Amino acid sequence: MDQAHRKFVDSMYGRFGLTKHPGYCMIEVLPILSSAGFAPPHNIIINRSLISSVEDSIFHESAHFLHYNRRSRSYLQNGKKSLKEVSLNELVAYFGTMIYIYDCGGISEVERYIHEIGFGEEEDQPLFVARDLLTYPNILEAIANADFKEACQLIAPYTKRKFLTK
Ligand SMILES: [Zn+2]
Repeated sequence: MDQAHRKFVDSMYGRFGLTKHPGYCMIEVLPILSSAGFAPPHNIIINRSLISSVEDSIFHESAHFLHYNRRSRSYLQNGKKSLKEVSLNELVAYFGTMIYIYDCGGISEVERYIHEIGFGEEEDQPLFVARDLLTYPNILEAIANADFKEACQLIAPYTKRKFLTK
């Protein structure tokens, strides 16, 4: 568990544009249906979800942790975030997770991951926007430092999906 988090952070912090290793989170695993997520600055709470593996959840929350270290201002008002801020944070977390899963296991592992957590083909779901971006992993660094408007401009050439533009 901690091992999965540490490996993710070690290999991904540079891809998020961090020049300094941010350290690690404390990870707590709770039973199914507990609330879970990244709690800034360095706690990750995981539940034993029915839909995705504990390891996938650790990658996702670890990506939130790296995004927070890159751009903490989008996490400052925890609980009071706009839908756009939440979507941007989720996009960055899914994108970072997919890049890592792709590096470790190739496209078939990414497809398994999307299949397990993709709740239907919602047009503007951050998960599917992240999949569109997977061929261009180097833009993660810029998106991780962008606000919502900047992020929309960055991703526009790579996806036809409306990313909360309505
Ligand atoms: Zn998330």
